[in-house]
Amino acid sequence: MNFRIYNTLTRQKEIFKPIKDGEVGIYTCGPTVYHYAHIGNLRTYITEDAFVRMLKFFSWKVKRVMNITDVGHLTSDADTGEDKMEVGARREGKSAWDVAKFYTEAFFKDYKSLNCLPADVLCPATDYIQEMIDMVLALEKKGYTYSIAGDGVYFDTSKLPDYGKLVGKSHIEGIQEGARVEANAAKRNPADFSVWKFAAPGEQRQMEWASPWGKGFPGWHMECSAMAVKHLGETIDIHWGGEDHVAVHHTNEIAQSEAASGKPFAHYWMHARFLVMGNLGKMSKSSGDFLTTSSLPEKGYDPLAYRYYCMLTHYRKQLEFTWEAVEAAARGLDGLRALAQRVKAEAGAAPQALDREAKHYKDFCEALADDLNMPAAMAVLWETLKDNAIPAPQRLAFALAAEEVTALDLFKVKEAGELPAELAALIKDREAARAAKDWKKSDELRKALSDKGVLIEDAPGGTKWRLVRG
Ligand code: AMP
Ligand code: ZN
Repeated sequence: MNFRIYNTLTRQKEIFKPIKDGEVGIYTCGPTVYHYAHIGNLRTYITEDAFVRMLKFFSWKVKRVMNITDVGHLTSDADTGEDKMEVGARREGKSAWDVAKFYTEAFFKDYKSLNCLPADVLCPATDYIQEMIDMVLALEKKGYTYSIAGDGVYFDTSKLPDYGKLVGKSHIEGIQEGARVEANAAKRNPADFSVWKFAAPGEQRQMEWASPWGKGFPGWHMECSAMAVKHLGETIDIHWGGEDHVAVHHTNEIAQSEAASGKPFAHYWMHARFLVMGNLGKMSKSSGDFLTTSSLPEKGYDPLAYRYYCMLTHYRKQLEFTWEAVEAAARGLDGLRALAQRVKAEAGAAPQALDREAKHYKDFCEALADDLNMPAAMAVLWETLKDNAIPAPQRLAFALAAEEVTALDLFKVKEAGELPAELAALIKDREAARAAKDWKKSDELRKALSDKGVLIEDAPGGTKWRLVRG
């Protein structure tokens, strides 16, 4: 089957052809660990996860690399402002290193709660400083860089004839037009970007390294280029990220990588559109006003209801977040799980047979192969589970196969029954805290329970609970 993906670089759907038969190398931009990931970030990670799962479902051998940005991402894309890690350190009165450690762990906890598979290679930027310095040296040797005193080493975008090809020439000309209003007048061209930043004289940065250009730290885009080359080679199959990265971050990754190697950097560029929050305003880590994954169990929702919610909209469409829609998705997921459990009971011990020639199986594959059309794939899953004309063991085999991509824990839900004594005691403690109006303690206990996969709801007759993780 031909597998089509939309390539931002060529602005069209293309038949995917890997560099090596049967193998796919993927680079996905990872989190900047100065704060919790918000559910918008996680829409992109859920999409990337479904994409990787789909490749595996189609029997491709996948190597996925993800970076952890723990240095050098400045508060402004125009290479001005402060390092976000230093902002986080000041906000929390911790070292930048401790902030990175804390939020990296928090990220993976959220990531796992959404059933996202770990990347094959995870690389914190601070472990690759030498590789980044080497790439800047290669660029310098080829004449692509220049220094701005007291600021940094910059990439001269005018030296690369196809600079900006990912986003389109008119956009780049727009940046050139804006030259007069650019903050950094010392740049040769407005679109030029830093590949190495100097530590400002007198400034005591927490994260800085010696380099041929003096003490400093890498420009943010540099990490992804250096780490992609190191783990996937100079040309990679697919590069993923959120749509905000097209105009600057990915455009500059392409420029420096291709200037250094003289080869195409990535054959396919894929981008997830944003999650937007109409009624709650713009969600951004920098304003601190955003929703995290933990806000889901806090409101009584299984985090996987959010995964399901994301799967109901194609990744190249903007997704509007509302709690009403999450509620509808949670009910939808409950229904899908109940249906799956019924099919399982009906199938009993009969041998399961996955019929790859069956229409439902082919339709499911066709939906996935059409630029990861998850909403269409989910519709096939629903229809098939409901279709009594298909023998239950066959429906069960299909649902189990589909789970490899959807990862919604359709079969892991535990029947309500006895809770382990330790968890039942926590519920009792929380009821006592509520009776004593100790809301702080009651919230802490709700969180402790949700961390263990128990969601609770305060109903008139007492606390109701359900287990969401097996
Ligand atoms: P960051 O941690 O800010 O570097 O972003 C991590 C990933 O989340 C990147 O791929 C971003 O493009 C993506 N991203 C940021 N905001 C959103 C959003 N509101 N919706 C979807 N993806 C986002
Ligand atoms: Zn990146």
